[in-house]
Amino acid sequence: MKNLKSLLEIHSDDPDNKRRGQLLNILLLGLAALSLLVLLVTIIADLSTLETNVGPLYMGSFIMLGSTILIFAVNHYRSAQTASILFLALFTIILVLSDEPAQIVNGRSTFLFTVPIIMASFILSPWASFLMAGVSSLLIASLDIFVLDSTPGVPTMLGFFAVALVSWLASRSLEATLQELRVLNRDLELRVEERTRELEEANQQLEEANAHLRELDRLKSLFVAMVSHELRTPLTSIQGFTQMLLVSIYGALTNEQQSAVERVLANTKRLIKIVNDLLDKTRIEAGQLALHPTSFSPVELIDDVHTSMKMLAKQRGLELTSEVAPELAATLYGDQGRLHQILVNLVNNGLKFTDKGQVNIRAYRFDGAHWAMEVRDTGIGIPVKSQESIFEAFRQVDASVTRRRKGVGLGLSISRQLIELMGGRIIVASEINEGSKFTAIIPFTAPH
Ligand code: ADP
Repeated sequence: MKNLKSLLEIHSDDPDNKRRGQLLNILLLGLAALSLLVLLVTIIADLSTLETNVGPLYMGSFIMLGSTILIFAVNHYRSAQTASILFLALFTIILVLSDEPAQIVNGRSTFLFTVPIIMASFILSPWASFLMAGVSSLLIASLDIFVLDSTPGVPTMLGFFAVALVSWLASRSLEATLQELRVLNRDLELRVEERTRELEEANQQLEEANAHLRELDRLKSLFVAMVSHELRTPLTSIQGFTQMLLVSIYGALTNEQQSAVERVLANTKRLIKIVNDLLDKTRIEAGQLALHPTSFSPVELIDDVHTSMKMLAKQRGLELTSEVAPELAATLYGDQGRLHQILVNLVNNGLKFTDKGQVNIRAYRFDGAHWAMEVRDTGIGIPVKSQESIFEAFRQVDASVTRRRKGVGLGLSISRQLIELMGGRIIVASEINEGSKFTAIIPFTAPH
């Protein structure tokens, strides 16, 4: 199929010329097939001795085949126009030789002369149909005058010209339509090109903006890391000195001094926590935070957190309970420090957002491959629409409430990233004014 297509292909810059050349090739292909058929029939007739006078048939089919190949070559290598003229001439000669003069002039073959007239307008040029009508009329008239010795029949010639007129009109409108299509096509191509260029430009701008954003992000992380680090040293020193003041190393303090220093210490601790959270956040985002897993006892972990948060719970007038399900393994493997950090975050939130009631900590076996740390409170609850966004950095349900309860909105975001780093996930279930339950689900991992 592909070979046939390339055989019919004509290389020309003029699309009309190309189309005519291709159409001529199709006609030539038909003529070649016809010649081969005649040759085949002749051979069969010759072999079966049905027909004795096969010489002219052989000659005719060979001449037809040879001429077809010659015209094909002219069409391919020279000009489609010359090939079309040759084809029309050959076709007319075949018509003239294929029947008796009387049948050609005014009989069964006369109408066949309309075929080259129509063909001419499609393979040569619209106006060529009139030329062919003239040639056919001349031939018929010559046969009338010189062979049949009669006066030429005007109606036949008029018929030829009528066919030429119709053919001219049809082929002209076809060419005009094709021309319009070509213009439309070119227009479309230009538009596609323009849009592609615009898209490429937009893409490039986007890429540049992206690169710029990435660089800004990198600088931001660098800046936060640097500032946090620089802040941590003096803050730790303030914490140390205030603690020494509180244990009267620099002499006894009055009650007012004691309470003032206690507030300095509490605020310093808060600042240290914020700085640490910022540092963790930037490290996680830069992919620089590594886990340090060891074997640990979940009972010890839960007890530690319970003990460290007991005072706060008492201050807030809340009950803090903890339990470790007996079926949970006595030893687990993971980054105990980070697990502690996550649990403290969750318990801290539970205590912060609960005004009365209790906060429960529980560790249990979640399924065959996971264990879980759960923190449940009887606090203010979280609206369903915020239950996903609270895990994003600096996101809080209601800034005014949170400001009253203190916090910058980093705890849950860091907790989730840490849990994901461990290969786990965190889920929340909550109802307004009923309380919230956060569950960190962590895979069991074996020491390497
Ligand atoms: P922070 O507590 O510093 O604001 P978090 O990331 O820990 O930041 O929490 C984000 C927000 O999620 C909180 O500000 C609060 O609105 C909501 N939230 C978290 N835990 C609870 C909870 N136990 N009960 C109600 N709201 C909570």
